[in-house]
Amino acid sequence: MTARILGGKIIADSIKSEVAEDIKSLAALHGIKPGLTVVRVGEDPASSVYVGNKVKTSAELGINSEHVHLDADVSQSELLATVDGLNARDDVDGILVQLPLPPQIDASAVLERIDPQKDVDGFHPVNVGRLSLGERSLVPCTPAGVIEILKRSDIAIAGKHAVIVGRSNIVGKPMAMLLLNENATVTICHSRTADLPSITKQADILVAAIGRAGFIRAEHIGEGATVVDVGINNVSDTDFAAELFAPEEMEKRLKAIENRGFTLVGDVNPKEAMERAANFTPVPGGVGLLTVAMLMKNTVEAANMRRNL
Ligand code: NDP
Repeated sequence: MTARILGGKIIADSIKSEVAEDIKSLAALHGIKPGLTVVRVGEDPASSVYVGNKVKTSAELGINSEHVHLDADVSQSELLATVDGLNARDDVDGILVQLPLPPQIDASAVLERIDPQKDVDGFHPVNVGRLSLGERSLVPCTPAGVIEILKRSDIAIAGKHAVIVGRSNIVGKPMAMLLLNENATVTICHSRTADLPSITKQADILVAAIGRAGFIRAEHIGEGATVVDVGINNVSDTDFAAELFAPEEMEKRLKAIENRGFTLVGDVNPKEAMERAANFTPVPGGVGLLTVAMLMKNTVEAANMRRNL
């Protein structure tokens, strides 16, 4: 069997076009232009790229985007005061504080300070609670993107056994809730799960959100499963890369390692997944592309929800 590749680009582009249309309607019907403010602290290079993408995409879709950049040594109280200021502004519908934050900052306290109505990352306890209750809420972007990929690729969820490997607050747990809300039968696995392959092999839909390159192998995948790879890892070891990629793909990957020192790899061994699964999301080019599109969708949703629309 060779898996069908579930590419993220076409789906992300459709979502972005729909969001752009919604923004036009909001302007025409209600005179509203949604606003998103992204707060970045310090000089983490990956955060800088992520924030750049978010601000650029917002602007392209017609969202008023703003980037607040604070020094790495900002105090907890200064950061909380920044959040308070954004909570109070009527022109700001969405607030996102880019993680990770420096060690002097209590990230949970900052995330909990964001007005839940403006919490476009969906990490505030009020939104986590609403998601568990199955109520309308702002939902974490990456797992919400996975649901969009499944639905828009016509992969049935209701009644299927979905197994998630990973139980983080930002991916694994909200992923489980979203799949449950879509009527899947859900199993959550983690580092203390005994005999992981015996469980993951039962999955109709297997979601890997682990943070370990190529961890999910043929022995974990049931024949014909849909495998969703959320992982993003940098691999620079060429011998390890050769275990992950077929020869034609390997050529591209070697070039990446040569040019920038690493290649992007998910939490699933792609060569083995392609042989066993029926559907597979690639890395890069899969789930990762949905995250920013879902953030844009959440910003419009926040603008609507704040006005009871
Ligand atoms: P975390 O490190 O917070 O969580 C990893 C989870 O994997 C934990 O629940 C952990 O279990 C579990 N785990 C670790 N080792 C094993 C193992 N050997 N067997 C079974 N389970 C294991 O990671 P995140 O959830 O933040 O991220 C997961 C992946 O998704 C990463 O690769 C990250 O880069 C990527 N990511 C991608 C995004 C995107 O936009 N595409 C966005 C966010 C993340 P335990 O709880 O027991 O420790």
